[in-house]
Amino acid sequence: MNIEGFKIYIDRLHDGNIETIQETFNPAFLEQDTEDLAYRKDVTIAGETYTAESELIIHLNVQTEAILPCKICNQPVNVPVDLKRLYLVKSLEKMKSGIFIFKDLLREAILLEAPSFAECLGGNCPERKTVSEFLADPSQAKNNDGEPGDEGYQPFANLEL
Ligand SMILES: [Zn+2]
Repeated sequence: MNIEGFKIYIDRLHDGNIETIQETFNPAFLEQDTEDLAYRKDVTIAGETYTAESELIIHLNVQTEAILPCKICNQPVNVPVDLKRLYLVKSLEKMKSGIFIFKDLLREAILLEAPSFAECLGGNCPERKTVSEFLADPSQAKNNDGEPGDEGYQPFANLEL
């Protein structure tokens, strides 16, 4: 784990200095890998950090990918996560050392913004059709009873013994 990438050296931010942040982390730091929600793609962050009065501000865009089950068929779906203008704020007064590690703060922010549901194939889950056929008027339901003129599939139409 690239812990160095999570460190902010407070003394570099004196006199209104702004430090650029550009890092890519292994998603393991999110400690979230279950069937309900998993992150297995790198987490890329880009932004800046500075101090404002008595607070440390970390201003980021965050990109990664969440995996969660389709709400209809339960198959895993990859959902892009693209958090714009995420603000992490920490009081400088509570900092005991001159280094702040924003790993936990970033983790919380990403998990807070986790997608709450997903549907596979961009909202066209194949099982959605099954569900709507089931709910449709029974007279309109599929039937392959081989009535004359029926252009549907007739598995026994040409079967002669
Ligand atoms: Zn589905």
